[in-house]
Amino acid sequence: MSDGDATRAPLGAALPNIPPAPAIPGFTHVYSGKVRDLYRAPDGALLFVASDRISAFDWVLPTTIPDKGAILTRLSLWWFERVADLVGNHVLGTAVPEAVAGRAMLCRPLAMLPVECVARGYLTGSGLVEYRATGAVCGVPLPEGLVDGSALPTPIFTPATKAELGTHDENVDFATVQRTVGDRDAHVLRDLTLAVYGRAEGIARERGIILADTKLEFGRPAEDPDAPLVLADEVLTPDSSRLWPADRWQPGQPGGQPSYDKQYVRDWLASPASGWDRTGDDPPPPLPEAVVERTRALYVQAYEQLTGQRWA
Ligand code: ATP
Ligand code: MG
Repeated sequence: MSDGDATRAPLGAALPNIPPAPAIPGFTHVYSGKVRDLYRAPDGALLFVASDRISAFDWVLPTTIPDKGAILTRLSLWWFERVADLVGNHVLGTAVPEAVAGRAMLCRPLAMLPVECVARGYLTGSGLVEYRATGAVCGVPLPEGLVDGSALPTPIFTPATKAELGTHDENVDFATVQRTVGDRDAHVLRDLTLAVYGRAEGIARERGIILADTKLEFGRPAEDPDAPLVLADEVLTPDSSRLWPADRWQPGQPGGQPSYDKQYVRDWLASPASGWDRTGDDPPPPLPEAVVERTRALYVQAYEQLTGQRWA
């Protein structure tokens, strides 16, 4: 993508296996992603609604997780406040229509930069795969001898390009980000991502949680190409981050680190119990009630442990 083409396709498309977004009187549906339904408010603001949908392996699962949308919304709002001195954000307010109360916020509509801004303080997932093959992640060389779950010497910026519908996000090096969004924005993205990660990692650690990695998205008002970048989307949730109970962290342990994020669902889907072949074209099966309950409990626990507030 050239510098002149640094923003994403306009909102409007939808993935095929996403259910139709409910109508909200006075609001115009503009987009549905794997988890969120976006509407245009009468005053032009963006109504950003988190559903209870859960995605894994780039599929939207046929089963929803009760309260998940509300938990992600409350947690994002909590985190936005905690990093507000580092970077502006897209939140305008929470006075939303009754039908989506608690799981929606009003946001500034932004032209999103087409870069998934990932910070990693620990090595796992696609970073680990890349490290094993090349000794580096996104062009950042790492010391020898790291294993699944190892702490990195210092947190690193490991961007990915936002996948087109139906494809995987792809890890890229910093030079690719520079070519994609320009040199100045590339540096700002890296600096802000590492600053937010550093702040959040410290807060999570005080609460017994390791923030292993997280994905941030940034944008700026389409009408003002010179405006500073602001933090958008969801932030520092179990969907966008890997959260590990610190007291059970053991680099190299079989099966990877226990986690408060979607790993439990991914593991179940990949296990013989699901009967699903994730390399095939068939959609994933419904989640059994016990898996739904356990998954909901993990989201609640992440919320409660991070914020110190009871999920009521
Ligand atoms: P995709 O949109 O590629 O399906 P996703 O499944 O993660 O990704 P959701 O989280 O369901 O998407 O939907 C949120 C969408 O809204 C993302 O495409 C995100 O980039 C976009 N977005 C977030 N904040 C804003 C904003 N302030 N203005 C415009 N778009 C935004
Ligand atoms: Mg998303």
